[in-house]
Amino acid sequence: MKPMPKIKCPTCKQVGDWFGGDHGPFCSRRCRLVDLGEWFNEEHRISEPLRPEHFSGFEDLPPGDYLDQTE
Ligand SMILES: [Zn+2]
Repeated sequence: MKPMPKIKCPTCKQVGDWFGGDHGPFCSRRCRLVDLGEWFNEEHRISEPLRPEHFSGFEDLPPGDYLDQTE
């Protein structure tokens, strides 16, 4: 059996094999609830997953090497 990898608790940054616990990837129930409570804060809003409509307006760009240029 493979040992659980050590990860950092997203809330309190403690390192341990939290995936093997009841609250993985968090180290404890408290840390998991803290993170859920912060989900609606401003700093979490910007990390929403990208969706196709976020790229609308870009699909008409012609392909070309200019994309690699800095100007
Ligand atoms: Zn924690």
